[in-house]
Amino acid sequence: MNLLEGKRALIFGVANDHSIAWGIAKAMHEQGAELAFSYATEVLERRVRPLAESVGSSFVEQCNVTEDTEIESVFKKAADELGSIDILVHAVAFAGREELEGHFHNTTREGFRVAMEVSVYSFLALARASLPLMPEGGSMITLTFYASEKVFPNYNVMAVAKSALESTMRYLAADFGPRGIRVNAISPGPVRTLSAAGVSGFKRMYREFPAVAPLRRHVSPEDIGHSAVWLASDWARNITGQVLFVDSGYNILGAFSPDATSDP
Ligand code: NAD
Repeated sequence: MNLLEGKRALIFGVANDHSIAWGIAKAMHEQGAELAFSYATEVLERRVRPLAESVGSSFVEQCNVTEDTEIESVFKKAADELGSIDILVHAVAFAGREELEGHFHNTTREGFRVAMEVSVYSFLALARASLPLMPEGGSMITLTFYASEKVFPNYNVMAVAKSALESTMRYLAADFGPRGIRVNAISPGPVRTLSAAGVSGFKRMYREFPAVAPLRRHVSPEDIGHSAVWLASDWARNITGQVLFVDSGYNILGAFSPDATSDP
């Protein structure tokens, strides 16, 4: 059975074939969804277009989410060419590399503004722009990280942005619920992507993760994709305003030493 048969998804955040958004796209394609893509800058087009074509999509539009005119233009094209959409995927985040190392208290005003604008406001802007394309309801999904709740070294302003993103997700869920639009966030464990490489110390956390997480394994973009398929499907029709952890159980731990949890 195809869970997303007859549904159309507009996906923001594919940069390459390691992107979480690409794992989500592949899983949605496998489950019968028709896909449309948007990428950030011109240089990414040569990576994203062939990926889109491999899943039968010819809708591949540039959109820097900090530009209202580019958001308007991609949604106008979507309205003209697709008519309506059922699923919005927001897998977009950015903070300057210098903000993702050292002490949080050194965060600059500009670094804070940029992280919040690209990683948080963009979800609000894309969600609002999706409204006219979702007259029959739909599902909006964003990507967050557990640093929104607990302190992770070096995540700094990105952690604060993820807290704001989760709150934004809940407010949108309350706003859009009466229209039959569900809004949720997926919180995955660490995945080796372009963005993750910008966080100082990420490699070490990634290496140590499977020794600590209850399920003793990493999370792949495909794993995240499968959860996104379920969230976007009618099987999750009464779920909105939630953070779904796809992290091998990492978030339930209070102790971070592998020695603290013994295998049976
Ligand atoms: P990625 O680098 O593949 O994806 C990030 C995307 O954001 C890229 O496609 C990039 O082009 C896009 N982007 C950045 N600035 C933009 C702008 N101004 N306009 C439009 N697009 C812009 O990395 P990823 O890890 O797949 O990240 C996807 C999401 O998953 C992010 O929200 C990230 O915080 C979240 N996440 C990642 C991890 C991880 O360990 N990789 C864990 C939890 C959550």
